[in-house]
Amino acid sequence: MLQTETLDVAKIRKDFPILKRKVHGKRLVYLDNAATSQKPKQVIDALVDYYSRYNSNVHRSVHTLGEEATEAYESSRDKVARFVGVGPRELVFVRGTTEASNLVRYSWGEKFVKPRDKLVTTLMEHHSNVVPWQLLAKRTGARLVFVGLLRDGTLDFAQLEKALSESPRLVAIAHCSNVLGTINDVRKICSMAKKAGATTFVDGAQAVPHMPSDVDAIGCDFYAFSGHKMLGPTGIGVLVGKRSLLADMEPFQGGGEMIREVFPDHSTWNDVPHKFEAGTVNIADSIGLGAAVDYLSSIGMARVRDHEVKLLKYATEVLQGVKGFKEYGPMDTDARGGVISFNLADIHPHDLATILDEDGVAIRSGHHCAQPLMNWLGVAATSRASFYLYNSYDDIDALKSSLERAREIFKV
Ligand code: PMP
Repeated sequence: MLQTETLDVAKIRKDFPILKRKVHGKRLVYLDNAATSQKPKQVIDALVDYYSRYNSNVHRSVHTLGEEATEAYESSRDKVARFVGVGPRELVFVRGTTEASNLVRYSWGEKFVKPRDKLVTTLMEHHSNVVPWQLLAKRTGARLVFVGLLRDGTLDFAQLEKALSESPRLVAIAHCSNVLGTINDVRKICSMAKKAGATTFVDGAQAVPHMPSDVDAIGCDFYAFSGHKMLGPTGIGVLVGKRSLLADMEPFQGGGEMIREVFPDHSTWNDVPHKFEAGTVNIADSIGLGAAVDYLSSIGMARVRDHEVKLLKYATEVLQGVKGFKEYGPMDTDARGGVISFNLADIHPHDLATILDEDGVAIRSGHHCAQPLMNWLGVAATSRASFYLYNSYDDIDALKSSLERAREIFKV
């Protein structure tokens, strides 16, 4: 196994049972990490352990199982909060980044956004950081404004400044683009937005899994990410919010546990974060996310990032050698996540992904839930290879060989 000197990839891979499987008789080369990551046995074991030993509802029952489950759920909240540098009372468990932006749209937006307000997002966003704001604009009579990009796929700060000069109510931006890999200077952007009086929402779905995170230092009002992209289970994610803001917001859903008292004609709300966690919460998966955070912490996020930068540099170099290879996004690998979006001559990305799959190479093809960005790039779709801590230089060599085979098949 050819690996970077930063991580012992061969050792790490042993923790991921799925990486042992074959696809079409070939070694699985999993390069679709921006869509979802694989899970180490430590996370799978945490789920099995919960269901086998102490499955019970939380915050309700005084029996031993109930107490153990509550303790595990809340200690998972503590761990995840520490991992991203915030306090546990600022951390709401949700289903994922999409649910987080929709929670903000509903609970914050419908209370605070007024007709003719401006909501600012950018052309590089995932649909989950566009569509909720479109819905909010429609509902409130606000207007959604897009900040454009420079040719290299970085944010156009001149356009951002212009948008901020109109005192928008909200600025919603990705920490890292899932297509271009562009890492936005969200600290600077949030400080500019704050000066303009805007509330800020940062989509950290592609950042938290891949680099050290200090959400408090970013200075945003809201920050969201998904557990399944960072070795955790599906169905669990996080919304971080400033406590005073969360306290001022309306509940997202009504039901059990989010209330303090219920009367026939009205109810009062539980403390934050429980006010936003109605009904039986996703206990097992939050515990699984805690195990994922333990795993990543034991490796060290600075090392994960360093490893991915090395893979990105190697991939950029090696893949440029494939005739017809066209890559999108900033070429400064230090300012870019471990994502390569590309096209190969005029081969349709879906055809390309199908050929690669025959070789056991899993990449994503399509619009990556970022159609405004595809329009800006002037393409209907791209192929995307995305890396994580268990990928090696071998995986990139396998990708290259498979791309060469596709060229031969399509005679391009
Ligand atoms: N934002 C970005 C940048 C993403 O990459 C994704 C997932 N592709 C999302 C938001 C949505 O995450 P989820 O589907 O887990 O809600």
